[in-house]
Amino acid sequence: MSLKKMINLRRTLAFRLTLWYTGVFAVIAFLTISLFYLLATNVIQRQTDEDLLDQMRKFSSLIATEGVGAGQRVATIESQAGGVKKVFFRFLHSNGRAFSSSNMDYWQDIYINYSIIQRLIHGEAPVFETIILPERDHEIRILYGIIGPGIILQVGQSMEEYGRIISVFKRIFIGTVALLMALAALVGWFMARHALSGVEAVTRTAQMISRDALDMRVPVKPRGDEIDEMANTFNEMLGRIEKLIAGMKEMSDNIAHDLKTPITRIRGIAEITLTTETCQPEYETMTASIIEECDRLLDMISTMLVISRFEAGVGDLRKEKIDLAGLVKDACELFRPLAEDKKLSIECRTPEFLDYTGDAGMLQRLISNLLDNAIKYTPSGGAVTIILERQNDNGMVLTIGDTGAGIAEAEAVHIFERFYRGDESRSTEGTGLGLSLARAIARAHGGDITVESEPGKGSIFTVTL
Ligand code: ADP
Repeated sequence: MSLKKMINLRRTLAFRLTLWYTGVFAVIAFLTISLFYLLATNVIQRQTDEDLLDQMRKFSSLIATEGVGAGQRVATIESQAGGVKKVFFRFLHSNGRAFSSSNMDYWQDIYINYSIIQRLIHGEAPVFETIILPERDHEIRILYGIIGPGIILQVGQSMEEYGRIISVFKRIFIGTVALLMALAALVGWFMARHALSGVEAVTRTAQMISRDALDMRVPVKPRGDEIDEMANTFNEMLGRIEKLIAGMKEMSDNIAHDLKTPITRIRGIAEITLTTETCQPEYETMTASIIEECDRLLDMISTMLVISRFEAGVGDLRKEKIDLAGLVKDACELFRPLAEDKKLSIECRTPEFLDYTGDAGMLQRLISNLLDNAIKYTPSGGAVTIILERQNDNGMVLTIGDTGAGIAEAEAVHIFERFYRGDESRSTEGTGLGLSLARAIARAHGGDITVESEPGKGSIFTVTL
């Protein structure tokens, strides 16, 4: 593996997780085995102490029944039976001077601890001592105790055998911990890689996604764990981005297509004026036409921007407490002359007062667009009805019905799209933005617009707010 790959590997989450896993495992293994080691040494020491106390009790009763001589004899036999390098006995006067012992050739360096003898004389129970002789690496456990009047027994036992057991145990312990750590690292690495495989799938998909491959999705397993949740969220986010990009594409296509017409018209007017012999009044007419076209263009652009901002969720609504009934009544009065000019009856049914929190300006645009359409697409003699009601759950419902041309089912699914104009409507004035703006405003107010229509009979637009 190259150095760069090694450095990259060290930065991976899988590597860090493995390190943590191995570290925690090592600490737990170390603590457990140390505890076990302490317990084992403690048990060995307690057992040794018990053996020494047994010896002491035995010599105490022997001396009491058979005298010191018997004790001395038994000491020699016991040390030979147990091994002269393993156990020794030394009989002392109460001043600390030795008067008899087992074979002490091996134990020559064992001194007599006078301070312990003083403690015994002052009534302390048998006293233990642990010493290590120079040039011998194992411990010797020694017990001092009074076994008769003026007689003290110093009995010692080599811990060499136990030391050997402990050192074997230590070697096994280090070997086991090393082996377990290697195993833990292996298992940890495998588990981390397995757990993070979902993350890698997300990364791979993200790397493969380009502008034209936005339909790619991360495969989601049915486990329902955090990784699947992340993959689902990532897929949902991709869906939203795909929709946004499609929206942007549609918008740019619309701009290219629908703004071309007025610009071409403006250019045409200017060109005709330039190529024909013109005088002052014709120039004035041309300028007026250009201003009119520019105003329409500006209006279209600003409407498109408002729709885009609302659809992207960043449109700024100036919400305030308003009388929605008043707003609807004002709009009806504003459009009444237009309806009457077209010989349409206009009926407006609203409560006296309906209090609502919303953006008055935007709601006015919504109502105007729907009313304008109703009047525009209803032939003379028809009727337009506006009804505003409060619903039980505190929502508002505004319906604008007409007895006009109606909308074919195939067209009804498109009428809320930007720049969409029905086939029949192309001869009438309009931009195809009115309904998209109305729906964007309704949605920004937490509502929506739906339509029910029958071609030839009329349409009913229902706005919920
Ligand atoms: P515009 O009215 O400028 O064409 P809109 O977005 O307001 O654009 O409407 C989109 C299309 O929906 C219209 O072109 C028309 O075909 C249809 N439409 C809207 N309102 C009505 C209505 N009240 N009756 C019949 N058709 C309608």
